[in-house]
Formats: sequence, C-alpha cells, structure tokens
Amino acid sequence: MIKLATIVGARPQFIKAAAVSRAIQLHIDGGGEPAVTEILIHTGQHYDHNMSGSFFDELEISKPAYNLGISQATHAEMTGRMLEEIETVLVDEAPQAVIVYGDTNTTLAGALAAAKLPMTLAHVEAGLRSFDDAMPEETNRIVADRLSDLLFAPHAAAAEHLRGEGTANERIHVVGDVMYDAALHYAELAAERSRILDDFDLRPGTYGLVTVHRADNVTDTDRMRGICTGIKRSAETVPMIWPLHPRTRAALEGQGVIAELGAHVRLVDPVGYLDMITLERSAAIILTDSGGVQKEAAFYRVPCVVLRDQTEWVELIESGAAVLGGADADTIAMAVPEMMQREMPVASFYGDGHAAEAIFSAIVAFVGEK
Ligand code: UDP
Repeated sequence: MIKLATIVGARPQFIKAAAVSRAIQLHIDGGGEPAVTEILIHTGQHYDHNMSGSFFDELEISKPAYNLGISQATHAEMTGRMLEEIETVLVDEAPQAVIVYGDTNTTLAGALAAAKLPMTLAHVEAGLRSFDDAMPEETNRIVADRLSDLLFAPHAAAAEHLRGEGTANERIHVVGDVMYDAALHYAELAAERSRILDDFDLRPGTYGLVTVHRADNVTDTDRMRGICTGIKRSAETVPMIWPLHPRTRAALEGQGVIAELGAHVRLVDPVGYLDMITLERSAAIILTDSGGVQKEAAFYRVPCVVLRDQTEWVELIESGAAVLGGADADTIAMAVPEMMQREMPVASFYGDGHAAEAIFSAIVAFVGEK
C-alpha cells in the first residue's frame, strides 16, 4: 500500500489538490495496482467557510483528516507553527510521499517538514518565477522547488527556469497545469449546478469580474487606490462584480475607499468555485491579481487585465490573452475597453487536461523504485 500525504491550506490549493485527488480516487475506484491511499492535511491558513469548507463540499473530495487551525499570524509565526505540527502528523502517518502545491506559507512549511524528516517531496506548480524577490510567494516557491524530489512544472518555460537554477533534469516533469484539469472538469458540474447568474441577476457578457488579494496591492494604500479608481472608471463602460477576499475587504474598509467605488461596482462575499467559474465564463472582462483567475480567464477565452506589474504566467501576456494593468488607474481604465475588443487566443500552453494523472503516475513510479 502506498500512502500519500497532501498538504493544503489556501483556496487555490484546494482546487489544485482536488484535481490530483480525483486522479487518485479514479485509480482507487478502478481497483488499480499498487493500492494507494491519500490523507489530506489542512493547515487552516484559509478558514472562512466560503474560503475553505465550501470547496470540500463542492469539489467532491474527501474532508481533511487533519485541520491544524493555523492562520492569521506573521509569516514567520505561521510557517513555524505549521512546520512543527506538520512534522508531528507526518511522523505519525509515515506516508511514502508528501505533495505540496503552489506558493503559500503552507507550501513552504510542508516542504520543509517533509524534506527534513526526510520524506519524498513532490511540488505541483514547480518552476514558476515572478523574479520579484519581494513577493513572499517567490520565496516560498523557490524553497519548495529546491527541496523537492519531484518537480511538476505546468509548462516548458517553468521547466527552463528550474534547469537554469541547476535542478537535475530527471527531477523535472512537465505535466501541464492541474488548474486546467480542474477548469475543464468542474465547468461541467458548474453548468449543471451553479445558479449564481440568476441569484445576482446578471446576463452573460454584460459585466466585468474583479478579484484582488495580493499583499502588495492590498496593503499599499496608493496601489489599492489606483486599482479602485481604475475599476470605478471601467465600471462606467461595463458594470463590475467583485467577490471580496476577506483581506481586501478589511483593507478597503480600513482605507475608507468603499464609498468611492460608485454604484456600478458591486461588492459581494467570496463565492464558491462552481459559482466563480460560472461568473468567469460569462464575464465580458476579468480584472484580477490572482494567478489562478488570470489563467481561468484564458481557459475560458475571456479577456483579462492583470492588476500587477508582472506575472509568472508570461505566456498569457505574450499570447495576447491578458494585459498588465498594474495598479495605475489610467492604464487599467484604458486597458479594459481595449481588451474587450480583442479576439481571444486559444490558451494551448497548459497541457491536455490530464496533468493530475501524469503527476499521480510519476509519484507512484518514483515511490515504487525507492
Ligand atoms: N475563486 C473562488 N471564489 C472567489 C475567488 C476565487 O472560487 O470568490 C477561485 C478561482 O476561481 C481560482 C482560485 O480561487 O480557481 C484562485 O485563488 P486565489 O485568487 O485566492 O489565489 P491565487 O490563484 O492567486 O494563488
């Protein structure tokens, strides 16, 4: 029996892990050899129902075996507490491999705990780089990559970054993007189940969708104001709906800018994944600083303005699927109508929708050889 431990903590990780858990479950349900079991460890980094619990209900994956309840602390404190508690769980459970996702403190703590024990470590979404060392995510992903035995790159460019940093070729697997797997699979479920357009009284193609949550946008008052002004001005062309991340809600309230957004910007609570992809697919334009949302825009061929000065997903910019709007009101307000006119390319750089199966097979093969 092969036991795998999956470590998650933040919203995008539930979605990425759901794609891999589905591949594992299909293997288990099909009576595949070798026998495999997966345990899910949730650090608790995201804890609101609409940032965490709802995903486990909707994505049809098993509930976490452990919830460590660690959130709302400084980077060091959060990572330190996670490291200690993850180590305890990993020692008790003794999995043959540990899987971490993306670039959060959960990724960093999980990677460190596994590497120190030591246990086989797999990093999904390896090799992405913003080349901005000030981003906490950049530190997390570089460390996770450095420590991993199996590095699952979403595309060739990510693999190139890893080779450039001296990672041995045999550790790198270009498998495609698990977010793309999820976007394809769950879009079908969303079409059956989501009622969000009716609930919000929205007609396809008549609204823009906004998400903002990156620390540098949310905590820097000038950037937040620039973004809000850009959104407000764009909303005069196309009304906006904005599911607010809790951190962003707190910042907007603290900075007193909510009242300035005007009548055409509708603020709502974060929505579940099936509702989110329904909102994305029917949007006329998406404005976001989210890594996941900018790719989903491209998957569904919706034009996107990225509310950052750079992106790890450079192929989106190079292909014309997205444009960088930064945090400057004029740039954002000009980019929105321009992008809405643009013919969207087919985003063909994220694999074939079977990244999760490739990841699962590579982990099983690696563990089997040890
Ligand atoms: N998402 C969601 N509900 C929301 C906002 C986002 O389900 O209200 C989903 C979105 O579709 C994407 C993921 O959350 O799959 C992205 O997560 P986030 O923006 O928090 O993180 P990032 O991708 O930037 O790491």
